[in-house]
Amino acid sequence: MGVVMRQRTCIGCGKVSSKQRMFRVARTPQGDAAFDETGRGTGRGAYVCSVACFAEARKKGRFASALRCKVSPEAYVRIEEGLKRAISTEADGCEG
Ligand SMILES: [Zn+2]
Repeated sequence: MGVVMRQRTCIGCGKVSSKQRMFRVARTPQGDAAFDETGRGTGRGAYVCSVACFAEARKKGRFASALRCKVSPEAYVRIEEGLKRAISTEADGCEG
């Protein structure tokens, strides 16, 4: 066992990074997809680096193939909301 620097690939633009913050979408036990706010969930996940990349990945159906599950329209709405919230939280810095 060793420490692995996990590289993350944005499924929207294909950029690979282990440093930049990427936003994680995970497959739920119910077989749908959900935004993973902690980014530390276990199991299958897909990463995007921005809202634009989320939109691109959604348009091309990349979440479904990355997560190997169907993604419902409701799930996409929730993921987008979570993503926007996470991004605006980052922009605000530490303020709660
Ligand atoms: Zn991207």
